Amino acid sequence: MKLFLVIILTLSSNLIYAQNSAKPKETLPVRGFCIAAPNHDDFNDFLKFVVKDLAVNNVNTLILRIDFNYEYESYPNLRSRNPITKDQAKKLVKKAKKHHIRIIPQINLLGHQSWETSLGKLLTEYPEFDETPNVKIPSSYSWPNADGLYCKSYCPGHPDVHKVVFALVDEIMDVFEADAFHAGMDEVFFIGHKDCPRCRNKDRSVLFADEVTLIRNHLAEENRELWIWGDRLIDGKTTGLGEWEASMNDTHRAIDMIPKDVVICDWHYQRAEPTAVYFAMKGFRVVSCPWNTPKVAERQYDLLISLRENSSPQLSDKFIGMVQTIWFNPKQIIEQSKNNIEGTGEEYREINTYRALYRKINGQ
Ligand SMILES: [Zn+2]
Repeated sequence: MKLFLVIILTLSSNLIYAQNSAKPKETLPVRGFCIAAPNHDDFNDFLKFVVKDLAVNNVNTLILRIDFNYEYESYPNLRSRNPITKDQAKKLVKKAKKHHIRIIPQINLLGHQSWETSLGKLLTEYPEFDETPNVKIPSSYSWPNADGLYCKSYCPGHPDVHKVVFALVDEIMDVFEADAFHAGMDEVFFIGHKDCPRCRNKDRSVLFADEVTLIRNHLAEENRELWIWGDRLIDGKTTGLGEWEASMNDTHRAIDMIPKDVVICDWHYQRAEPTAVYFAMKGFRVVSCPWNTPKVAERQYDLLISLRENSSPQLSDKFIGMVQTIWFNPKQIIEQSKNNIEGTGEEYREINTYRALYRKINGQ
């Protein structure tokens, strides 16, 4: 009997090993799509897009960038104009469940608190949270500029900031019945600024890592996981990746200071940079994220599949998938999808990339 059990166990463990060591395309765990949430008036079109396009293309993960575009009850003063309602959110939850799509809500934390000439809701309502109160939002924006202003950041050391932002996080996670939250945290240029009495002279990698860890720990209390963009964790100088898709402001050492269960969204839009390996070998699960160049998306996909097929089971399991990112107004791709068009103009680059990636994912 014991021998029989040993044989069975050996056979089944070999079978499990065989299944784990081969990673056929059908098993790509994350087949993602990242887009700004629609406003209230465009919601029905968005819902149709989710069902008739994303679900049909086997998208199973929807990173929905909500920010202040929701009818928050915890802080109604932080609602943007024409936000989606709780009722609309619940309709999306129902459709997503039916089509096996996991919704991951996003609110930009730390950075991206302004955009060009407009200040975001958080710092408009709570100017005391501003990391750089002396940097004024210009009437006409250009980059580069004397202030080094790309986007404003909140000060992670302000004693009241997390009470506010965590209330929004909790509310949005509850309404979307989500088990993962995306905190953004990309392109944080203002951190440890000389204007901030709390942060100046502090190690920027520690500041960044402490904020990631704080958010991660808050989510973990409810068994929720944290996803972030990966750029601040890559050394922009050594890699030659520069200050946008990597860090030139000394935050990259944070990669060795944050919990390993944070999921990294590794975005690169010009080339299929092999940085997913870096994150995976540090112990993180990683998704590769293209934007608007079909060839780059296809190469990222091929690279990811190659890494899954050629790595040890432990490492292979870290390369969990692909997320197509959409950064233009969501109305554009929804219209293009509705009319079933791909084109050659600049405005078609996002949908063309999405189509190219999902043809690969779906083996077409
Ligand atoms: Zn500060």
